[in-house]
Amino acid sequence: MRPVRIPPRLVDAMRDHGRATYPDECCGFLVAGPDAPDPNVPREIVDIRHASNEFEGERRRRFVIRPSELLTAEAALAGTDRVVAGFYHSHPDHPARPSSFDEEHAWPWYTYVVLSVTRATVPAIAAFELDAETRAFREVPWVGPAGGPPGDGNGRSPNAGLRRPP
Ligand SMILES: [Zn+2]
Repeated sequence: MRPVRIPPRLVDAMRDHGRATYPDECCGFLVAGPDAPDPNVPREIVDIRHASNEFEGERRRRFVIRPSELLTAEAALAGTDRVVAGFYHSHPDHPARPSSFDEEHAWPWYTYVVLSVTRATVPAIAAFELDAETRAFREVPWVGPAGGPPGDGNGRSPNAGLRRPP
């Protein structure tokens, strides 16, 4: 599982997106430069791109990105050394942990970032990659603002006080 590096401005951009769509889930693409041959070298996220949550139902609980929107995002990167290397989405009032729905619809190799967004607190973020053999998500380490994985800034667990995912 390759670690991932996310610049603070992109963490902020994902948080802003999650706040803007609250209480519905936001979703989007993670754009990365080329992965280093050494799998221990973090994947560098260099941009994000908003996507529309097209889930036809309760968008507080799930998100769906149309395949055509992924193709558009990939086409926009054609001819560059950048690729769509993952997806982010928010969990309004739920922890930054993938749901079983997320896991069932995930693909290997991609980085999945989940943001916990509540009305009052600073959103917590975690990153995951699907284990191709077990089909289970594994959390991947990531480097964010201040050089370390972020909490909510007050020493509490980022997921404290949140309900378990459905
Ligand atoms: Zn989810």
